[in-house]
Amino acid sequence: METTPAPTRALATEAVHAGRDDLARQGLHAPPIDLSTTYPSYDSRAEAARIDAFATTGADPEGPPVYGRLGNPTVARFETALARLEGTEAAVAFASGMAALSAVLLVRSSLGLRHVVAVRPLYGCSDHLLTAGLLGSEVTWTDPAGIADALRPDTGLVMVESPANPTLAEVDLRAVAHACGSVPLLADNTFATPVLQRPAEQGARLVLHSATKYLGGHGDVMAGVVACDEEFAGRLRQIRFATGGVLHPLAGYLLLRGLSTLPVRVHAASATAAELARRLTSDPRIARVHYPRIGGAMIAFEVHGDPHEVIAGVRLITPAVSLGSVDTLIQHPASISHRIVEEDDRRGAGVSDRLLRLSVGLEDVEDLWADLDNALGATPVGDADPHRSAAPPRGAISHNAPAVAGAP
Ligand SMILES: *Cc1c(COP(=O)(O)O)cnc(C)c1O
Repeated sequence: METTPAPTRALATEAVHAGRDDLARQGLHAPPIDLSTTYPSYDSRAEAARIDAFATTGADPEGPPVYGRLGNPTVARFETALARLEGTEAAVAFASGMAALSAVLLVRSSLGLRHVVAVRPLYGCSDHLLTAGLLGSEVTWTDPAGIADALRPDTGLVMVESPANPTLAEVDLRAVAHACGSVPLLADNTFATPVLQRPAEQGARLVLHSATKYLGGHGDVMAGVVACDEEFAGRLRQIRFATGGVLHPLAGYLLLRGLSTLPVRVHAASATAAELARRLTSDPRIARVHYPRIGGAMIAFEVHGDPHEVIAGVRLITPAVSLGSVDTLIQHPASISHRIVEEDDRRGAGVSDRLLRLSVGLEDVEDLWADLDNALGATPVGDADPHRSAAPPRGAISHNAPAVAGAP
């Protein structure tokens, strides 16, 4: 479908053109949505050959599509575009971020490589999937400095998130990729998006997104995607075909549409988030603010008072799990996004019971601040708090330095 891309196109240009290169020649402007589950073919010999080829390499079958579970042209447009933005050869889309991670684990365990080395914190359900061993994997948790020592002959994957959900801890991806040696590094890039960080350029073989978040960007589509080299993409397509976690074509359409505004949305929301982080940092009701070095639209902060009161007090901001939408969301990770992680593991990963996670949207900064200020209301200030001395001095943004990020 695609012609060879001009390699010099800027990210903002790719965001609106990648995956659409053939449209003008077809006399189209908006991409078509192909809802077919199956495709007619009078040449079953050729179809047999295409199915054989897919079984061997997992390459997208040449010629007309065969069946919805092998691939869909509308979803393929999104995959092409995301690969272009992440700077990888390919991308493979799934029904959700968790379906995408599951497929990666299945690719590796099908080769007998069941052991995973991972750095906390991870998104709560990713942590749960690994810890519970639901797909037969066995996990060793470590900090970034311990990765090389944690590798075993049966290690199939190293997994990190940066900035991590929910503490925004960052890892030095280049150093981690180096420590992995020949073991594939999976970097969950959901929070940064390719607008702020392209992990493949730093040595990650696999870049995971919950596309439900910033890529879709409007809170109305659930999806996951892995950007990677063509060889790994082939294995992922084979797993997707065999296990069925496919993305619906309408979701593929919405994601491609979401990508076109991704750079604008991320830059605008990040500017607002940086300003809110600055104000929170000098607010006596706040014990600690976490805001990544690379920026972004996510803020985490610990309050001196009761975090549940803040959640109950917002009016403009929506108290809801998830993130990356055009509107601002707030949630309490210990109650919701990371509830499924065992309490000691959660605390050990830096997810304190007073931590709140804010996903900053595209509203006006003054309106957001007024709502936050009101929700914080009369919550205690630092000096009234018995734990005050244990908290870092107010006025300091905590940039989780790579050396301490993700301590187990
Ligand atoms: C939400 C999320 C996931 C899981 O994605 P779903 O689309 O909800 O399945 C994985 N990683 C991170 C960082 C997330 O925020």
